[in-house]
Formats: sequence, C-alpha cells, structure tokens
Amino acid sequence: MKQYDLIVIGTGSAMNIVDAMIQQNPKIRVAVIDKDEPGGICLTRGCIPSKILLYPAELVRTIERSAELNVHAEIKKVDFEKVMDRMRSLIGREIDQIRQGLLSSENIDYYRDVAEFVSPYTMKVGREIITAKMIFLCTGSRAIIPPIKGLDNIEYLTSDTLLKLKQLPESVAIVGGGYIAAEYGHFLSSMGSNVTIIGRNPQFLPDEEPEISELAMEELGKHMCIFTNLEVKEVKQESGKSGNKIKEDKRGKIVIVAEDKKTGQSKRFEAEKLLIATGRGPTNDILHPEKGGVRLDKDGWILVDEYLQTSQPNVWALGDADGKFLFKHVANYESQVLYYNAVLGKKVKTDYHAIPHAVFTYPEIAAVGMKEKQAVEEFGKEGVLIGYYKYEDTAKGEAMALSRYFVKAILKHDSLKILGAHVIGPYASIIIQEIINVMYTPEQSGWVVNDAIHIHPSLSEVVQRAFQSPMTVDQYHEMLDHERKHRISKAI
Ligand SMILES: Cc1cc2nc3c(=O)[nH]c(=O)nc-3n(C[C@H](O)[C@H](O)[C@H](O)COP(=O)(O)OP(=O)(O)OC[C@H]3O[C@@H](n4cnc5c(N)ncnc54)[C@H](O)[C@@H]3O)c2cc1C
Repeated sequence: MKQYDLIVIGTGSAMNIVDAMIQQNPKIRVAVIDKDEPGGICLTRGCIPSKILLYPAELVRTIERSAELNVHAEIKKVDFEKVMDRMRSLIGREIDQIRQGLLSSENIDYYRDVAEFVSPYTMKVGREIITAKMIFLCTGSRAIIPPIKGLDNIEYLTSDTLLKLKQLPESVAIVGGGYIAAEYGHFLSSMGSNVTIIGRNPQFLPDEEPEISELAMEELGKHMCIFTNLEVKEVKQESGKSGNKIKEDKRGKIVIVAEDKKTGQSKRFEAEKLLIATGRGPTNDILHPEKGGVRLDKDGWILVDEYLQTSQPNVWALGDADGKFLFKHVANYESQVLYYNAVLGKKVKTDYHAIPHAVFTYPEIAAVGMKEKQAVEEFGKEGVLIGYYKYEDTAKGEAMALSRYFVKAILKHDSLKILGAHVIGPYASIIIQEIINVMYTPEQSGWVVNDAIHIHPSLSEVVQRAFQSPMTVDQYHEMLDHERKHRISKAI
C-alpha cells in the first residue's frame, strides 16, 4: 500500500492548493487522481472551450447588426470546422502542459484512473491501494441525462461530446432551458444551424430575474425557436429514405415528442442532432463515499461543514462536488478557504453572500446576490428598493444604438446596502464587477457606486445611474408595466 501526505481527486481547482502546498513543503508526497483529461471540467469540457466557441458567435451577431450603425459588413463564410479545431487545439495545448507538469513533478504521482474508497483514508486507484491522512475530494459534476423514452436507443450530444463535432449540424434540438442550452443554442445558431430549445421550466433561463429571461428569450428568439413549459416524453431516430447519397441522411432525423405541461397538448420536433442540456448532477457515487465515512446529502452531493470539511475528519471537499454553486470561480474561492483551513489550520468560514454568474449569450447576462423575490421575502416589500437604468439612456448606450438592455439593482431601503444586481446587455459580466466588489466591502453600500466618479461616456454609467434613483418595488413594477404597454402600442 502506497502512503501519501495527501490524496487529491480532481485536477481542476484542487490544483491551486496542491501547487501552494508543494511550494511550502518541497518534500510533500501527493497522489493526484483524475479519471479524465487533466485540467478539470472548466478547461477540458466546460467554461473555457465553450467561451472559445462563443466569442466567434458574438462576432457574428455583432457584424450582423453593424448595418444599424451604417457599416455595411457581410459575413462571407463561417468556417465551423476551423472554429471547432481552434478550440480543440487551444484546449489540447493547455491539457498537455498540465499533464507534463503533473508527470514531471517530483512531489506528485499522477493517476489517470477512477478512485474509490475501500476504507477511511484508503483508496483504490486502478490496481493500486493508496492511503493518506488528508484527502481532498474535488470530483466536480456530470451532465444529468433525463429518463426520456427512447433516449438510450439514439445518439445524442451532451456539453461534453458536442466539443467533438466536426461538421455543423443543419438542425439541432436542445432539451433544456438553462444557461448551457442558451449558450450552445446561441453558438450553434450563429454558426448557421437551425436551433430549437425545448425547456421544461415555465421560464427560459429560470435562474434569472423574470424580466431578464423574458428579454433574453425575445432577443435570442430572433435566431432560434425557444419553447418553455414542455416535457419531452419520447425521442426516436427516424429511418432515412434509402438511396440517399449522404450517409447521415440515411439515419433520418431525430424526432422529439413533448407535452405542454399546461395544456397537455403534444408537440413534435425534428432535428439532425439532439443536445441534452438538462443540468448537472453529482458524480460522487463512484467514489463509494460510504466506505470512507464520507456522507452525501439526499441528492448525492458531498456534505461539508462551513469550513469545507466532510463528515470524516481531515477529508475535505470543494467545488461542484459539494453542490452549492456549480461555477469555476466558486471552486477557486473554495480552494482558498480549504487551503486556509486544511493546510494552515485556520478556521475560515465559507461566505456565499455575493456569488456572481454570467450567461455568455447575445445579449450577455450577469447577476450577483439576491433576486427581487428573495429580497422581498426576507425584508418585506417596504424594506427593498430597486434601482433600474437602461443602457440606451446613457451616452455610450446611445452611441452603440442599444435598446431595452438594463441594469437592475436590489437595495435595502434603510441603508442602501446592495442585496443583489442583475444586468442584461453588452459586457454585462464586466460592468457588474464594480457592484460585486462593493458587495465584498464591510458595508456593501450602494452609496459607493452612487458617489464614485464614473468615466463619461462609458457603459459603466448605466450601473451608477441604476443606483441614483431607486424606486419602491411597486413603482418598479408599475414602470415595467408601463414600458410593456408602450411597446405593445408602438408595435400595433
Ligand atoms: C458546458 C459548461 C460550461 C461551463 N461554463 C462555465 C462558466 O462560464 N463559468 C463558470 O464559472 N463555470 C462554468 N462551468 C462550470 C465549471 O466548469 C465547474 O464549476 C468547474 O469546472 C468545477 O471545478 P471543480 O474543481 O469542482 O471540478 P473539476 O476538477 O473541474 O472536475 C472534477 C474532475 O474529477 C474527476 N473525477 C470525478 N470523480 C472521480 C473519481 N472518483 N476518480 C477519479 N476522477 C474523478 C472528473 O472526471 C473531473 O475531471 C461550465 C460547465 C459546463 C459543463
């Protein structure tokens, strides 16, 4: 049995701590285990490849609207094969570097295999039995595959396998209405595919504010068909017409049968490819955590305390594995907390009061902290103010000919403390950052955003102005209703 100072499962954010530990203790012996390519999900099949693909998509949509600004540009060709190759080569290069680093480290034994507990502090990796007094479980998550009739009998894509595509499918149906569905729907449609999104929730992008989801659905809906509130009941591969010269055609289209959850009406869709994007779930079962004295919650995520320690002393978990927030920046943050607690012996509690996220569609969406409903539940309607400003009402927004995009800030009425913020529009993920930063100061005061001088004329002014004239919750909804009625009357 091989003995280590530390066993680490997962080569994503866990590696932040391993690097620091090696610098601190050049004699440390670490077993690093990952059953997949090294680098973790973010690099190998998550954030980074998807964002490499989404940038060309953003260019396509930007060029398409250039005529609105009297620049008559035309897209001659979108070379899907090369867009995909570029992504694979950039990712491949980084994976190779990480692999080399792992293999050449004198402190690390790198195992590309599945790890499972055989008893507390002891694990089986391939044929090897290894043990350590300290273990980091950083196992990530995996795509949830829903139990849809017929799904087992057809070939479908997930966010993992989509990255292997070489040819642009003529049409793609995406089951799911969350951020992965939205981002890949945006990518594939901008490349030229006919995309249909089939969401189960009544709200497209259900984690966003309703008015943001509504606008995103309208804008993205200009390039793809988006359905909500549909339960997919069955999928099947049609047999193609014989004699077709294109091999793919012989297989025929994939047929998706869904039921409207409200009316019970049946709907039928057809597409060349099917992408299942119905969320992410835990992957901790393969660890056999029960043999290691590690408890899971009812959904299968690893239970950790506020210091990130599991039910077994000195066995720690971070990132997606604990199921709290499935974002790379949260995994990175938790790797810091874990380092303080497990390695430096401090007692630093995790703090999730201002967890941001973004959806990299066109328009971009970003949010942090509480939603309006949550704030009203906690502080009552009277306890909350809402700041709102539209991009188009700033000089830069006007210059960019933007319309309807906005910043919404949720504030505490008595102190103007920032409770949350929600943005839809260009650079949402960047312009929200000043709000996030203030949310990490002791007072989290909206006055900081209000009082700080903002560069004129920059898009950051839309953030400041949202904080300058906050409304009551009722006034905010009256204003939204008024805007909606105005739009309808203009359209008629
Ligand atoms: C399509 C997509 C897009 C995304 N986009 C974003 C984004 O834009 N921004 C963002 O913040 N987040 C994004 N994410 C989420 C982000 O990728 C994850 O939150 C992050 O990678 C989690 O890191 P981690 O360190 O917890 O796990 P990782 O280290 O990344 O993954 C765990 C690794 O452990 C391996 N493993 C698991 N169990 C075992 C075992 N028993 N034995 C051996 N190996 C095992 C897994 O195979 C995996 O390689 C995206 C995810 C996806 C799927």
